[in-house]
Amino acid sequence: YDDRDGKIWMDGTLVDWRDANVHILTHALHYASSVFEGERCYNGTIFKSRQHSERLRRSANLLDMEIPFSVDEIEEAKYAMLKANGWTDAYVRAVAWRGAGDDMGVSARKNPVRLAVAGWEWGNYYGDAKMKGARLDIAKWRRPDPRTIPVEAKAAGLYMICTMSKHAAEDRGYSDALFMDWRGYVAEATGANIFFVKDGEVHTPQADCFLNGITRQTVIGLLKDKGITVHERRIEPTELADFEQCWLTGTAAEVTPVSEIGGFTFEVGALTRDIAETYEKLVRR
Ligand code: PMP
Repeated sequence: YDDRDGKIWMDGTLVDWRDANVHILTHALHYASSVFEGERCYNGTIFKSRQHSERLRRSANLLDMEIPFSVDEIEEAKYAMLKANGWTDAYVRAVAWRGAGDDMGVSARKNPVRLAVAGWEWGNYYGDAKMKGARLDIAKWRRPDPRTIPVEAKAAGLYMICTMSKHAAEDRGYSDALFMDWRGYVAEATGANIFFVKDGEVHTPQADCFLNGITRQTVIGLLKDKGITVHERRIEPTELADFEQCWLTGTAAEVTPVSEIGGFTFEVGALTRDIAETYEKLVRR
């Protein structure tokens, strides 16, 4: 993805895509001192843009980093990048990280915190599954105990097991993997939150040890507006056998139906289609 035309915003200026590089002794590359955002611009407007910029700054703070740009400045950077590339519909990726410093130790107080904003045109993250439903494997790894890592941060370090789990699932013919949490309850997929339907009510894991997605919060609001009961609670893996419908939510995933999780099957039903459509209308409003 490095050798192409386009512009990327880096530390306050727009640079050519090919020149958006970092040094090999970047602290983040060695010690995962990196946080990021995934956002989508629809018809020229980034959905919940400020909320994403605020989450980026909060994620950095949770890693003991202070981004040297305000929310307003991050907002300007995102739109400047989109304009420079001529995009009205694109995925937006902001990333903040510790750069190279005077030495290579773990301690990094003096290393500059850097910020870049890139983007690209990205269709639905799950491709065909948007219509037919995604098939998920069960991940071997678990979402970690919140006492072991700041789980509310959208931090690069939390994605190591996501890549490993996604690869393992793909190797077995699935499109993604479902994580259990450290206690063994249903948690989330490798880049999206999960919802289930049973008897006309919606059940979703309580976001107490994984990212409480902006799409997740939006979809819960939309369901409640429709008068549908939403239970945020601990979900046992044995309950997968009883749920009738299932979908994933995320900025990249939007609302993607799930047709199977490790042998348990779900119908791509009326409520799943309805909430996917309502979300689509909202983001393109
Ligand atoms: N969980 C993980 C691990 C993710 O990477 C994402 C995507 N950012 C989500 C959940 C959903 O978050 P959001 O709706 O804010 O995109």
